[in-house]
Amino acid sequence: MHGAEAMSHITIVGGGISGLVTAYRLAPDHEVTLVEADARLGGCLHSTTLDETVPVGLDTGAEASLYRRRETKDLAAELGLDVEFPSTAHSSRVLSNGSLHAIPKRTVMGVPGDAAEVRDLLGDAASDRVAREVIAGPIDAHDVSLGDFLADRLGGDLVDTLIDPLLGGVYAGRCRDLSLASTVPALLPAAVAGTSVLELVQSLLAARDAQSAALAEGESPQPVFMSLVGGINRLVPALEKRIRDHGGAIHTDTHVTSVQVDNGRWTVATAESSLRSDALVLATPAHVTKDLIAEAAPASASMLASVPYASTALVPALVDIGDRELEGSGFLVPPTEKSFIKASTFVSNKWPWMRERIPEGTALIRMSIGRYGDGPGGWQDCDDEQLVARAFEDWQRIVDRGSDRLIAAEAHRWECALPQYLPGHGEKVARIDEEIAGISGLELAGSAYFGVGIPACIDRAETVAARITSTRA
Ligand SMILES: Cc1cc2nc3c(=O)[nH]c(=O)nc-3n(C[C@H](O)[C@H](O)[C@H](O)COP(=O)(O)OP(=O)(O)OC[C@H]3O[C@@H](n4cnc5c(N)ncnc54)[C@H](O)[C@@H]3O)c2cc1C
Repeated sequence: MHGAEAMSHITIVGGGISGLVTAYRLAPDHEVTLVEADARLGGCLHSTTLDETVPVGLDTGAEASLYRRRETKDLAAELGLDVEFPSTAHSSRVLSNGSLHAIPKRTVMGVPGDAAEVRDLLGDAASDRVAREVIAGPIDAHDVSLGDFLADRLGGDLVDTLIDPLLGGVYAGRCRDLSLASTVPALLPAAVAGTSVLELVQSLLAARDAQSAALAEGESPQPVFMSLVGGINRLVPALEKRIRDHGGAIHTDTHVTSVQVDNGRWTVATAESSLRSDALVLATPAHVTKDLIAEAAPASASMLASVPYASTALVPALVDIGDRELEGSGFLVPPTEKSFIKASTFVSNKWPWMRERIPEGTALIRMSIGRYGDGPGGWQDCDDEQLVARAFEDWQRIVDRGSDRLIAAEAHRWECALPQYLPGHGEKVARIDEEIAGISGLELAGSAYFGVGIPACIDRAETVAARITSTRA
């Protein structure tokens, strides 16, 4: 660019990780305005100190990011943030028939290459069914329900006991509703070619083993997950600072109500004013974006209207555990167990940076509640006090720790926060991208498209920012 007067003005709607990364990438070369409806930035990235009961923030939304992908670690490095890894001394468990079992390690999202791997968890009859995989030829579409496909191939018990809670941990959804192609694409080739899933998983695990074997002596395998001291939410203030340092404007408490395009210039209306810009990035959830683009891109708007969202709640708590340490890094609960909570992370066991900062005899935990498709009369009818009490009661029963006491706890609700990638999601997103590509100056970012995880959101945001820069340099 050749000076401020030549700069394009770009408006970004939504101050979650997607909008923040888009603004951060664009701010050096463009005049950027980020507009966020809420009083705070971060969207699904947020933290609490439980009213200053803990000396450092604890994530109340996303709590980790994949380290095996490059996006979050590269961004953290660029922002000067030191990465933290989960403890290797603890692992997670899964509830089955009322008791906690180790999560089988040699699987791809719960699918083993060898039925023996899941025998302890599932028992003989269900693991024999896994061994007798039923291969019924290629699927007659590009995508299929992940849960239904795997239940047909390997039996419903594996799906209900292991795959559903693992997938539920990512999407707050039920794997029979979710797309195979969009959620576990590594298994799609077996569905499309009509070949064995067990054999495919064996080859994927062999490739993983070969990578480990290639490590030099003394070198450890790469951690799967990462966080930051104070939680993964620490990306938010670091991004905010960089955007402001580059002269970007950030307006919180500013709800965008409509969007209009006129002669290639975009006008964004808020309750108080309107903003005109050369390009517009909507980094909002699909249920918001669909209304904002209803006039500019009606076909995409109606496709976005068909992306459902799950609501969940998170109860972070500081617990008096006396002299009896918690075992493991947490647990998952399949829907078939009919529990109030669907998962818990033992934060202070999982993250050494947190353990070092809280008193002896206490533990920090997170309890998660709610899945897509929860019926009426459930957790959403509880007030915050009931939510905390019922979650902790359930937690104590599952881990058999009746004498532990709550020191502090809060309820955090995530309404319509997690998109559900139904079968055919990938094709839907491709059609949306095709329509949007034909509209000059409009871009869509966020978790509704190519991945709900933080790295996927960063990747999409960076792609969008690069596209804007290449057309406006
Ligand atoms: C409880 C929970 C736990 C999770 N755990 C993990 C995890 O451990 N690891 C991981 O990788 N991912 C996790 N995720 C998923 C991940 O956090 C999200 O997919 C990601 O943060 C979404 O970012 P985003 O910017 O696309 O959307 P959001 O974070 O939803 O941000 C969208 C923003 O748009 C704003 N907005 C909406 N409407 C308007 C409007 N009209 N005008 C202006 N602004 C508007 C919203 O207020 C919000 O701030 C979790 C999600 C949740 C809810």
